[in-house]
Formats: sequence, C-alpha cells, structure tokens
Amino acid sequence: MAMRILVIEDEVKVANALKEGLEHEGYTVDLAFTGEEGFFLLNQQTYDLVILDWMLPGRDGIEILKTVRQKGIRTPVLILTAKDAVEDRVEGLDSGADDYLIKPFAFPELLARIRALLRRGREEKTLRLSVGDLEMDLVTRKVTRRGKEIQLTLREFELLEYLMRHRGQIVSREMLARDVWHETLRATPLDNVIDVHIARLRRKIDQPFAKKLLHTIRGVGFMLSEVAP
Ligand code: CA
Repeated sequence: MAMRILVIEDEVKVANALKEGLEHEGYTVDLAFTGEEGFFLLNQQTYDLVILDWMLPGRDGIEILKTVRQKGIRTPVLILTAKDAVEDRVEGLDSGADDYLIKPFAFPELLARIRALLRRGREEKTLRLSVGDLEMDLVTRKVTRRGKEIQLTLREFELLEYLMRHRGQIVSREMLARDVWHETLRATPLDNVIDVHIARLRRKIDQPFAKKLLHTIRGVGFMLSEVAP
C-alpha cells in the first residue's frame, strides 16, 4: 500500500511541485494550503508523514504542530523552513517536529529525509536493548528506566537506539550525522542540532536519576555506558 503524505504549504507552485514529485515516487499525496485545512485533514485521515511549511498565513506551522501534538497525533512531521537560525530549529524540534529541511532544498534530499522518517516509523524487530536499568523495547517502541516510561520523539528514539547499540563505545558526531541523521554532505555541520538532541535526551533519560548513563567525551563524542569512561 502506498504511503500517504500530507503536504501543508501555502505556496501553490511549491505545493504542486511537491505533490507531483512525491507521486512520481509512488507516494499518495494530499495538499493543504493553510494550517487550518491541514489540521482538519489530519483529524479526518491517517497519514504516514506530514510535510509542514513553517511560514503559513494565519496560524503558522509551529502553532499547527503544537496543536497536533497536544491532540496526541504522533504522525512524523518534517518541517520546511526558510529560517535557519539555531533557535528556530530548536523551537521547531521542541514543538514536536521529527526533522526539518531548510528551503530551498534539493528534492533528493527531501526524499532521503522522508525515507528515513518512514523507515523509523516502520522498523519493528523483536528486540530489546538495555544499558543498566534503561530499557528499550523495539517492538512497542517503549523506553523505560527503572520501569518508568520515558516519552521520546522519533529522532530521540533513533538517537538512543543507536547509542544503545553502541553501548560502551565512543560515538562521534560524524557517526550520528551519518547514521542517525543520514547525512554526510552538508553545507552547515549538524553539530549544534546533535548537541541539542543529546541535551534533550540526557534530560529525559539521566536527569531524574542518580546514576548517569550518557557521557560526553570532550572533543570526541558521546558514550552510553553504566560505567563512566
Ligand atoms: Ca509558506
């Protein structure tokens, strides 16, 4: 069955080009030209992915996204933005976006992001990972520490999964950019974005607990380990 994508973008030319390109790739695409229209469709139908333009007339993309997440809709959301200041990215991620792409972008890059987000939503194996009392169930995608459930975004989940699969090993920012963000070539390094995610993950998995599991190796990267490196 074709994956269903909702594109919320007010620029008609851009929206139509996206629809045409994505349909050519075999996706089923619905278009919404305002945030309200997009929100309405999200409530009516089930989508595998939402591509959401930040700058929309009326309620902007971030407002729509916050409302969607408050309603408990967990559909992966890729934000399109012409803004590229770090604070704006952080705001987007804090609002519940799973990824973002800065306009103008190359279409193959958009396709790679879409595939990564859809893969993350689909990848289900009968596996459990654990580091100390931190556990990840890859079937239910539930993360717990001392039996207490921890809510993660898709990106945080994939980041943690990667760190757990490499437990006890140093993971560099380059490894994370390549294997979690699926990017090797990029004009602006992902370091800030990675550090923001690491900080957010640390707040969730470590802050409430006495024993720290996520360690920063200065100048090198990170390590998830029961034993401080
Ligand atoms: Ca726009």
